[in-house]
Amino acid sequence: MSGPMILLVEDEAPARHTLADYLGHRGYEVREADTAHEAMRQWDAHRADLVLLDLGLPDLDGVDVIRRIRREATTPIIILSARGDERDKIAGLEAGADDYLTKPFATEELNARIRAVLRRAGGPDADARGCLRLGPIELDTVRREVHVSGEPVRLTPREYELLKVMLSSQGRVLTKARLLRAVWGLAYADESTYLHVYVNRLRRKLSAAAPGAVLEGLIETEPGIGYRIADAEAL
Ligand code: CA
Repeated sequence: MSGPMILLVEDEAPARHTLADYLGHRGYEVREADTAHEAMRQWDAHRADLVLLDLGLPDLDGVDVIRRIRREATTPIIILSARGDERDKIAGLEAGADDYLTKPFATEELNARIRAVLRRAGGPDADARGCLRLGPIELDTVRREVHVSGEPVRLTPREYELLKVMLSSQGRVLTKARLLRAVWGLAYADESTYLHVYVNRLRRKLSAAAPGAVLEGLIETEPGIGYRIADAEAL
């Protein structure tokens, strides 16, 4: 019985073969594609559970593949990108990718990210009572209250909205523009100074409420890109 199906899109054959072997040994069923067109053909035929996508493909831009998949499904997508391609990574994340890895990466790191996005695919939506949870944090979307280890934490309305977006995106990378649009609105998409200030304030308030290292790593800065939100297993 094989595990989740991964569509592996990578035009460099040696890298693709190495990854396919590794993933096969980890119990995943792997489908391979070396062009964007082949990726879309495989996607149409098999609807993989997760897509690993190199953005630099010989025929089309990998971002087009992301847009195409996102029109139809919320299937997790992890970008495999070259160092220094910050614009590409941001474009991919904005188009709907969940995470990215910069080449060369350790296979253990890849496996950890795969497991994180597959866990998220089950969804950390608000529960029946309207609560979002992550580790000791509980955010009540009905009462608009936040508790850490059972103790109330006072947040401003913006801080609350920021935390709500983050708790809805556990195990994902969020670009700065995306967070700014979600919390402040379209006109603020370039105001990353706001975001920096609010993220740090939120980190401080949450850590003060849960002394010790429990919340360390909750919101990781991804330089030049945005923020990575931990999930319960990573916390
Ligand atoms: Ca490539």
